[in-house]
Amino acid sequence: MTRPSDGLSYYRATANPAYDHPKLQGDHTCDVCVIGAGYTGLSAALELAQRGYDVIVLEAETVGWGASGRNGGQICTGVSCGMEKIEKVAGRDAAQQVFDIGEEAKSLIKTQVEAHEIECDLKWGYVHAAERASEVDELRHEIEYLQGFGAEGMTFLDKAGLEDQLGSTRYAAGLREAHGGHLHPLNYCLGLADAATKAGARIYEHSPATSVDTGASPSAKTEQGSVSANFMVVAGNAYLGKLVKPLYQRLMPCGSFILATEPLGENRARALIAGDEAVCNTNFIVDYYRLSADHRMLFGGRCSYSTLEPKDLGAFMRPRMTAVFPQLADVKIDYAWGGYIGITMNRIPDVGRIGDRVYYAQGYSGQGVALSGMCGKLMAEAIAGQAERFDVMAQFKHQPFPGGPLRTPALVLGMLYYRLRDALS
Ligand SMILES: Cc1cc2nc3c(=O)[nH]c(=O)nc-3n(C[C@H](O)[C@H](O)[C@H](O)COP(=O)(O)OP(=O)(O)OC[C@H]3O[C@@H](n4cnc5c(N)ncnc54)[C@H](O)[C@@H]3O)c2cc1C
Repeated sequence: MTRPSDGLSYYRATANPAYDHPKLQGDHTCDVCVIGAGYTGLSAALELAQRGYDVIVLEAETVGWGASGRNGGQICTGVSCGMEKIEKVAGRDAAQQVFDIGEEAKSLIKTQVEAHEIECDLKWGYVHAAERASEVDELRHEIEYLQGFGAEGMTFLDKAGLEDQLGSTRYAAGLREAHGGHLHPLNYCLGLADAATKAGARIYEHSPATSVDTGASPSAKTEQGSVSANFMVVAGNAYLGKLVKPLYQRLMPCGSFILATEPLGENRARALIAGDEAVCNTNFIVDYYRLSADHRMLFGGRCSYSTLEPKDLGAFMRPRMTAVFPQLADVKIDYAWGGYIGITMNRIPDVGRIGDRVYYAQGYSGQGVALSGMCGKLMAEAIAGQAERFDVMAQFKHQPFPGGPLRTPALVLGMLYYRLRDALS
């Protein structure tokens, strides 16, 4: 598989100093072996280590090398598929439980950042911006609907109200959430890794699990070593490949790309997003953007199922940014990078067990900055014997993507349809 842009991202260029972790050598035993050092794996490792479990984390590359070190940094409410779908599939009570887990996911970030003094530019405030007049009533309905679950801090913005907040005339209306937000994703991830290490977890980098036994005595082999454990947490998400076949079949890696402009200066940056919120449009193929702490525009979007990456990512992404902010036509692009989002068929996270001793969580479908850490915590709770909240997330059935090895061309066609729909409606 072609890996989207392993080159230098803005996040790597501005990463905080962090622990170096060795490569796994020799045979080891522990209570819990975690595969993957992104938010899911590290949050599970931190929670378990704090509860006194002996934890080993295997990371194929380096901490935060996957989506957790590359993403838009946007802290979203709920789940990617929308709460109405959850209610339709599982009923009102279960939807309320999922909503509550989503709310705790956001406050978990705040708790972790404060408890472990993680410097990651955490800011609160999130705006959903609708391009089409036909969506204005949907936004009003969404606010009412989410308030029914207890959501607070949601405000409707009409066109004029939104234009007071955003330096763009592209949108018809917006929804502002006080309790969404944004952060420097890689620094948050590095902070989680440092906290887990301090709590006693052993992290090994450049140590891909090359095979795993997901049976009654879980174990993982790497090039130069092995780990035997009482439990395993599989947290490789869109980067896991075929290591655990059923998980591979239920997940589609989708390339998403981000550019970072040169620093714009505080005044020019604030003229684009006055309240410094994270912003996302409401299209199926989303644009997501925000300002960095040093006043750059970080503009992300696209969704590529083809696993092919454009040669000049900055040039590829620039037209999307200037469609929203034509006033940025002259700015220099300092960084552009991409990563894989793990998407499930129904856009509901794929959480569950394989047998009694192997737990997994993947497929947050573009909304994992908050939920992934929470799912890591829920797996830790379940391993510690309190599975009620884990079971709320594990109740959803997931189908393999149809088409087997031919699934990518079918999805590319599907995506073309949605692009056309966004453009025409
Ligand atoms: C470009 C982009 C933008 C995004 N923007 C947002 C956003 O703004 N808001 C939002 O909520 N979500 C966003 N997401 C999604 C979010 O980043 C993910 O849902 C979240 O980071 C998933 O975390 P994770 O720990 O499950 O997976 P990852 O962070 O991908 O971590 C998995 C780790 O497992 C490792 N691994 C894989 N296989 C093995 C193996 N065999 N052995 C050892 N290690 C292995 C990988 O190297 C990787 O480090 C975005 C994603 C991308 C790619």
